[in-house]
Amino acid sequence: MAQATKTTGAEQVRWDLTDLFQSPTDPAIEETLAEAQTRAVAFEARYKGKVASLAPKAVAAMMRELEEDEELAARPDVYAYLLHSQNTEDPAAGRLLARVREAGAERASHGVFFTLELAHISDDQAARLYADPESARYRHTVEEARKFRPHQLSEPEERVLTDFSPVGNSAWNRLFEELCARIRVDLDGRRAPLDEALVRLRESDRTVRRQASAAITAALDQDARTRGYIYNVILGEKAIDDRLRHFPTWISSRNLANETSDEAVQALIEAVTGRYDVCARYYRVKKKLLGVGELHEWDRYAPIGEVARDLSWEEAKDLVLSSYRRFSTRAADLVEDFFKHGWIDAPVAPGKAGGGYCMPVTPRHHPYILLNFTGKLRDALVMAHELGHGLHDRLASKQHIFDFHPPLTLAETASVFGEALTFDRIMSEEKDPKVRLAMLCTQVEDAFSTVFRQVAFNRYEDACHTMRRQEGELSVEQLGEVFQAKLQPMFGDALHAYAGLCVRVRVRQPAGSVRVPPLPAGGAELRRRLPGVPRRGRLDAAGRARPPAGHGHHRSRVLGRRPEDPRRHGDRGGATGARDVSIDRRKPSWMLADALLVAAGWSHGAFFDPISTDR
Ligand SMILES: [Zn+2]
Repeated sequence: MAQATKTTGAEQVRWDLTDLFQSPTDPAIEETLAEAQTRAVAFEARYKGKVASLAPKAVAAMMRELEEDEELAARPDVYAYLLHSQNTEDPAAGRLLARVREAGAERASHGVFFTLELAHISDDQAARLYADPESARYRHTVEEARKFRPHQLSEPEERVLTDFSPVGNSAWNRLFEELCARIRVDLDGRRAPLDEALVRLRESDRTVRRQASAAITAALDQDARTRGYIYNVILGEKAIDDRLRHFPTWISSRNLANETSDEAVQALIEAVTGRYDVCARYYRVKKKLLGVGELHEWDRYAPIGEVARDLSWEEAKDLVLSSYRRFSTRAADLVEDFFKHGWIDAPVAPGKAGGGYCMPVTPRHHPYILLNFTGKLRDALVMAHELGHGLHDRLASKQHIFDFHPPLTLAETASVFGEALTFDRIMSEEKDPKVRLAMLCTQVEDAFSTVFRQVAFNRYEDACHTMRRQEGELSVEQLGEVFQAKLQPMFGDALHAYAGLCVRVRVRQPAGSVRVPPLPAGGAELRRRLPGVPRRGRLDAAGRARPPAGHGHHRSRVLGRRPEDPRRHGDRGGATGARDVSIDRRKPSWMLADALLVAAGWSHGAFFDPISTDR
């Protein structure tokens, strides 16, 4: 049984942000914002109209100047973001976040000219810059900027959009994050944070899992309409932006920023969706290993055997550090600094953002890591994952600031590598075949999350963006259906399937069965993907089909990534959500609320951070 409140030793492990600022009211924040603003105005006065024609040496000098500006401006931004995710219910943190975003937009409007002019550098000029050793240092920056030329608007238009940006997408995302952080789940009569409840889906006791699932469903049901509205606004904004900027598809801007192509991503999607049978096969095996007649959504994360090992914070830390050390002393030393110097915020806390992330700052300032440590072996793997990002960031600190952030397509390599080191370490020492089997299952499931599940999310996003553009605002019920339709194929017939489809089902008591209305347009795909679900007909009390009666963004401010985009994602997955059919289906299911949780995440078409947030 899960302990309601178990101490892990992580409770006191909070990050120390004082090497950025002392408090949200530290006067140094306003001073920094003012200085950054002054520098941006001066930069504009000095270089406007000249960027595309400067001699190579002058370009190099200009870029060095801009590096200094970015170093300075990143600090208040990052500080406000970290403070807010540590406690999204803290009004001082919220106010500061709004303040730095407004100041950031004001500053960025003076940098609009730069982004446009850099993109308009001619081929000849670019060749001159690449030939000079000093300016060649910024070759990648120039190349990246030039790619966006066909998608840029005029300077006055870009300035207006920049001015409005603090009250656009980022404001909606903040509201979404605050709503999510406020979710409380009724656990044994206590109102617990969502992350704490999600851990119970990994308990070995099936009753505990089922009850947790029902409680989570009820909790996610709250505010689902509001989150649905937020998602619709974000989808709508993206559609407008893509139209104005002539991006052919909803994901094209993301792919361009990720330094990949629509074709490459499409090939990846086809390769992965073409082998969903691999997952389904595994889950059929898991069903046997668990010895359950049917695999329900609350069984997906069940541990195999009674080996769900618990770890204290110190044990997890030792495990992860020694795993890095086995690989490389230098890597371990760089990782150990996170523990030594207070760069990690570890415990689950009220109001704290869920999941985990690693937030890089600048090449000259160390990164920060946010975790929600609950004392499971899995939390050690999340720790290893985020420290992999952290290690990458520290090793990348020799790059200039514009090349410091890896694109999302690369970023997960280091983190998944960190996980693999830890997993190898565990397996090298574990002799008990039962434990080894359990560990292998965990590893397989994490690999599914990294590969298949992310692609399934991409399919979900693809459907939502497409439908929003073609059909207008999407209802909460529609979003739930789409989520089910896009996630279920991963599991094939191995997972009991009924949640999303039943959103529209009316419960007819006391017949013991519910009527399935005709599937909506687009139902053809659902039918193909979900064999066994009748076109119309009945589901029995267990949700099995019966024959029918009688028959059958852009780059940030100036350049580089927005500091408010750490490598994390708002999803707290669970291709799940089903409750028993006997539960009133008129209410949104977890599946559906879950869809909104995933959906209103902060970015479009991102390759989701696989481990830290996928529960
Ligand atoms: Zn990651």
